[in-house]
Amino acid sequence: MKALALSFMMLTGVVGCHMHSNQTAAPVALSTANASSVVSGNFSPQELRAFAALQPIDTHAHVRRVDPQFNAMLDKLNVHLLDIILVDDQNPEENDLHVERNGALNFIRSSSGRAVLCTSIDPFRMRKPGFTASAITGINRDFDHGAIAVKIWKNLGMEVKDAAGNYVLPDDPALMPIYKDIAAHNKTLVAHVADPDSSWAPPNPASPDYSYYNENPIWFMYNKPHPASKEQILRARDHILEQNPNLRVVGAHLGSMEADFHVLAQHLDRYPNLAVDLAARMPYLALLPRTDAIAFITKYQDRLIYGTDLEFHARDKVEARMRYWENSYARDWRFFATNDTVDFDGITGKGLALPDSVLRKIYHDNAVHWFPGIFPGSH
Ligand SMILES: [Zn+2]
Repeated sequence: MKALALSFMMLTGVVGCHMHSNQTAAPVALSTANASSVVSGNFSPQELRAFAALQPIDTHAHVRRVDPQFNAMLDKLNVHLLDIILVDDQNPEENDLHVERNGALNFIRSSSGRAVLCTSIDPFRMRKPGFTASAITGINRDFDHGAIAVKIWKNLGMEVKDAAGNYVLPDDPALMPIYKDIAAHNKTLVAHVADPDSSWAPPNPASPDYSYYNENPIWFMYNKPHPASKEQILRARDHILEQNPNLRVVGAHLGSMEADFHVLAQHLDRYPNLAVDLAARMPYLALLPRTDAIAFITKYQDRLIYGTDLEFHARDKVEARMRYWENSYARDWRFFATNDTVDFDGITGKGLALPDSVLRKIYHDNAVHWFPGIFPGSH
């Protein structure tokens, strides 16, 4: 089973970030669980009490919409959010940093302290004169207005090019002063750089990423002329960690090291300023042998931070979207906290039944430590 699971892990791809999780192609089922034993759906009242008692913080959400029903759901679940913005020039709804910021701030102001801002920079302005200084001015203004973190996205390394036509890497000299500024303000860098390995592999119709890369060829690096390799991009991220030992870096999506937990462990050992979020990569934990998953989480219980990559936009149908959010939180909690078998869009896993002390770290304490100011009253 282990060999199967590991080879499957090379194929699977819950790419996350601007692919709604419920649009993920159904992976090839390798489940050994009886479908009838899978626990799904919303929290029972008893489950909700246990979940809410954790004071859960979702450190990876994208909310751009003010809706009282949505805020009531956050109250009911007792969830706090880090609302992350970014500039995606492929998405007309997300291609303007000012629009993104205003959308997020409108929601945050409506949230009664349940959400805070993770701001971003616009890397498509990198070739304009004065880019670095104006990016720093922008994020410092956002810090003044309550932002607690800055996101860099996978367009660095996979899309943005310099004047010579080379891909700009996350450690480009124009970006390094920005990281120093983030550290100087005691804020946190969220780094979603690179994609799952299958972006750099030949097209494979058996891969669950196949349809994603067919529909989003911009992110399929395999057939690009002279792409930056995934290794180059992650090395550039590591260079940021080395050059800025006082900068807290949270690697989104298991730091894009989802395919090999040994590599992830080595990075956590080597870089004390690195933690990772679990957003849109829970299935990779479910694919590990259960005892290995428990051992990994137990060993790195101070470095793993809960997040989902859930989104809420103007285009969404409110009722269906809220049901999806609630069911996602319930499924993830059951996987961590109970023995129930849960289903991550075709990948099933038996719950890890982690002790309460570890649950509190993953759901709350680590977020407070790595993102000062994320929870009301914490600094
Ligand atoms: Zn995201």
